[in-house]
Amino acid sequence: MDYFSWQDGTLHAEEMRVSELAERFGTPLYLYSRAALERRYQAFDEAFGDHPHRIFYAVKANSNLAVLNLLARQGSGFDIVSGGELERVLRAGGTPDDIVFSGVGKTDEEIETAVRAGIHCFNVESAEELDRIQHIGREQDRVAPVALRVNPDVDARTHPYISTGLRENKFGVAIEDAPALYKKAAKASHLEVLGVDCHIGSQLMELGPYEDAVQRVLALVDRLTQEGMVIRHLDLGGGLGVQYENQVPPTPEDYVATLLRHVPRDMPVHIEPGRSIAAEAGIFVTRVLYLKPTDQRNFAIVDGAMNDLIRPSLYGAWQEIVPITPHDADCRQWDLVGPVCETGDFLGKDRTLALEAEDLLAVRAAGAYGFAMASNYNARNRPAEVLVDEDQAFLVRRRETIEDQLQLESRLP
Ligand SMILES: *Cc1c(COP(=O)(O)O)cnc(C)c1O
Repeated sequence: MDYFSWQDGTLHAEEMRVSELAERFGTPLYLYSRAALERRYQAFDEAFGDHPHRIFYAVKANSNLAVLNLLARQGSGFDIVSGGELERVLRAGGTPDDIVFSGVGKTDEEIETAVRAGIHCFNVESAEELDRIQHIGREQDRVAPVALRVNPDVDARTHPYISTGLRENKFGVAIEDAPALYKKAAKASHLEVLGVDCHIGSQLMELGPYEDAVQRVLALVDRLTQEGMVIRHLDLGGGLGVQYENQVPPTPEDYVATLLRHVPRDMPVHIEPGRSIAAEAGIFVTRVLYLKPTDQRNFAIVDGAMNDLIRPSLYGAWQEIVPITPHDADCRQWDLVGPVCETGDFLGKDRTLALEAEDLLAVRAAGAYGFAMASNYNARNRPAEVLVDEDQAFLVRRRETIEDQLQLESRLP
């Protein structure tokens, strides 16, 4: 089911007209659907059937408190990559036991806070980090639960910036080095080995790379078990792709079924989906400011820019852009560009659309890595975020003001 659909000739978010929400909250604007978020979470959860499992939503995809809170109410856990995300999860109603902490550059302060909070597990990305966690655990007289993030050296066949499971990437420890590190962790006084972790990349459109990774990780688990270690969970990371263009990604059902074909019945499986829960639950709404047809190209200048939604500029990502209330002005090929002073500031190029000034457009599948990657570049205020629940709309982050931006700065005396 699509929670953003046209009724009476105009785009709706659940039961609300997007055009009315744009009037009420202004543009540019992020709009999320509660039902879409919950449904995607449930699709993953249900796909596991009675296989022991936990879902740790990857907070970095969309860390709005309301989004985290809805997922916490569904029973989701959370994969975090910073102390800031730890605080967000706790404020959103998650508990420390719902949290796994990934990331290659955890600071002492972040580790101290997470050990003190009693999080579920650290996904450890290097030998030095393991030492640091042991040290901090001893200082606090607390035992820290750990899994090693292993790098299975598989090609996720995705964009190089979001491929993480190759030997040449900065993530995890080489799978060949893992047994020695596990031995060390098992002997450490203030570490408790819980599991094995991997995460091979994002926006994966095929299941083959997951199968390769899971087989390599299971071979490691066998070896660790033979050496007398008890591995209590397998964390297979996130990364399932979503539909931006024509290519259709595997469903949560196919993805989970494929993983479970390889995993022993009694081995608990953790996954960390981010994009595949949040992306299709959100749209980015922007308004046409000016139409500027030229000899070379036709520019539609819109009020949303690369600072609001950077995926097209950063990765050359293609996202569908649709008119909110289609009409039949002349169709042309448009480049949809923002007000930011960079030629790389575009939301889409060569889009065939019938446009007039003041038209509203929606960029689809913008619920993940949209607002979360927004910045104040060009001193632009970051957009508002609104969550729709059937026929109600909640402002879950108000639009920034210039006062918000300036508050942290000061002039010399
Ligand atoms: C980013 C990330 C995820 C989530 O990736 P998605 O592509 O959004 O599903 C999961 N685990 C780790 C360790 C990550 O860094």
